Amino acid sequence: PLSTTDHIESQRICVCVRKRPLNKQEINKKEIDVVSVPGKGTLLVHEPKQKVDLTKYLDNQIFHFDYSFDETATNDLVYKFTAKPLVQSIFEGAMATCFAYGQTGSGKTHTMGGDFTGRQQNSAKGIYALAAHDVFTYLNHRRYANLDLSAYVSFFEIYNGKVFDLLNKKAKLRVLEDDRQQVQVVGLEEVYVSSAEEVIKMIQMGSACRTSGQTSANANSSRSHAILQIVLRRNDRATTLLGKFSLVDLAGNERGTDVSSNDRSTLVETAEINRSLLALKECIRSLGMNSDHIPFRMSTLTKVLRDSFIGEKSRTCMIAMVSPGMASCEYTMNTLRYADRAY
Ligand code: ADP
Ligand code: MG
Repeated sequence: PLSTTDHIESQRICVCVRKRPLNKQEINKKEIDVVSVPGKGTLLVHEPKQKVDLTKYLDNQIFHFDYSFDETATNDLVYKFTAKPLVQSIFEGAMATCFAYGQTGSGKTHTMGGDFTGRQQNSAKGIYALAAHDVFTYLNHRRYANLDLSAYVSFFEIYNGKVFDLLNKKAKLRVLEDDRQQVQVVGLEEVYVSSAEEVIKMIQMGSACRTSGQTSANANSSRSHAILQIVLRRNDRATTLLGKFSLVDLAGNERGTDVSSNDRSTLVETAEINRSLLALKECIRSLGMNSDHIPFRMSTLTKVLRDSFIGEKSRTCMIAMVSPGMASCEYTMNTLRYADRAY
């Protein structure tokens, strides 16, 4: 159970794309599927047979990623090639991060397994749960027994550049950077957990109090970034940090111009989201180029993830989610271009 994919193990950055299936509504509307996955790492956005002028975006565009998952891929499969190798890396002292990126409705929360609204019971099978399960498998494995470790979780949200603690009644927290450039989220709850079930319980608790966006675009939390952190500490007096896994369900990447609202607060929200997603792309790109300068100060999101971008043992995985329908084509192209440029 401790084996991982060597290919990804040796990589600091892994960028994948996942296509969700057409949903019932889309099928009823006779929506055309314009995305296909012809090979393991290739994704194709193609021109529909129907006569529509979409030449603006649809030029049979081909993108290459580390992995491309088609609509038949399960969360288990996606997990195995994305987050799973990162779980092991935190036992080796890494600061690992897995991002779910994409337009609202493209499958970010489905993939992470953060849907605890009761509408679906798929939350137990997402990356959160699978990673939590493996953390405890490794923790109890004799290979790591001599490390004498404990696991903790934090769960917080970044909304409009501000941090809210989802495990502490959404307390608003400050982000401080000290002289040694260490970034701290002051007062962030870190809850000791002794099983995967306890991690899930924390996520359920936290999900219940996520920010509800008032935009017409979505009823739930698409306007904020949710960050779950699984932290490994040694059981010494200082509870020394060994490794940390941050799982990030990013805010929807739809552009301001597409939001059908001229409500000022919505525009501010959108501007902030765009800014943080741009900052994230810049940080991942710098990381990929082994640059000494990582522009993590560009946004709150990248600031709180500073540890994940600095240091030799950082590992990042980005899963870009796309909707298959023609109606989402412009968003899909934005997502693919973003992911393509992240490395
Ligand atoms: P997002 O978090 O990106 O806004 P969601 O994860 O909430 O999107 O997905 C939108 C809808 O599509 C949900 O009903 C979800 O269950 C469904 N969905 C997303 N991805 C898949 C998938 N790979 N297979 C089946 N259903 C999916
Ligand atoms: Mg979501």
